[in-house]
Amino acid sequence: MTIFNLGSINADLVYRVPHLPGAGETLAATSMSRGLGGKGANMSVAAARAGAHVVHIGAVGEDGQWASNRLLEYGVDTRHIAVAAEATGHAIIAVDDAGENTILLHPGANWALSETEIDLALELSTARDTFLFQNETNAQRAGAGMASARGLRIAYAAAPFGAEAVAEVLPLLDLLVLNAVEAAQLETATGLPPDALPVRDVVITLGADGCRWINTDTGHAQDIPALPVTPVDTTGAGDTFTGFLVAGLDRGMPMAQALAQANRAAAIMTTRHGTADVIPDLKDVQDSRF
Ligand code: ADP
Repeated sequence: MTIFNLGSINADLVYRVPHLPGAGETLAATSMSRGLGGKGANMSVAAARAGAHVVHIGAVGEDGQWASNRLLEYGVDTRHIAVAAEATGHAIIAVDDAGENTILLHPGANWALSETEIDLALELSTARDTFLFQNETNAQRAGAGMASARGLRIAYAAAPFGAEAVAEVLPLLDLLVLNAVEAAQLETATGLPPDALPVRDVVITLGADGCRWINTDTGHAQDIPALPVTPVDTTGAGDTFTGFLVAGLDRGMPMAQALAQANRAAAIMTTRHGTADVIPDLKDVQDSRF
């Protein structure tokens, strides 16, 4: 089966600085590196590394061919990544010696997706496929609507959280993944606790406490503990979790098994520095000893 992931693609530009710059200050960085990031790209890489066939639906600018190529190297189908007139989405990340950071995000091409392109990509889909998306692109409601009309399983990671964005897609979802903060924000916005949401499967990630799965049809709730690791960088852990979860479900795994695998992959991710380029694969997950 295929996972169609409507998602952001960013260049993560990381600058090491002696301290975070203040207003009006000009500061020389001591080093600079460029990596592939964006929640969408991270999830595509994670799902592909988990063994799924992934079609990424997104856009980069003329300056973003490298990002598309890297996704391709990681096994993602990039035929539906358009080249937009806008610059490739990017995050300018300053990190000081204490590990504190500031992030300036330019969505760029991620907000220039065309509904026609999404429709074209979904022409290849069947009702046994999955449509995955997050909250870093435009056309989310339209994309989820088209996928839902074609009968795909609809999975959504409500990150970064936006009350309006979540509310407009909520009735279309089969699977909703939130972290604890987003779950609290959604409850404030809708007045509904997670077990009363109109979504069959709700998964709340709980950092070092693992995750909780609620099946709202049956009322079944289950906690799956995290793996004991010493994290060095939790960037991308949530995206790795969602990518592995959706890939497991796509392969027909029962929810509890897919969640255990997602916890394991995300735990490994917290022990690595970086984003898309260091997401573990299925072998890392199977070989891991905790
Ligand atoms: P986000 O990073 O999106 O805010 P979480 O902090 O809940 O989300 O982390 C996502 C997942 O990453 C968790 O469900 C868990 O599987 C894994 N994880 C995060 N922090 C740890 C940790 N300290 N130890 C083990 N696993 C972790």
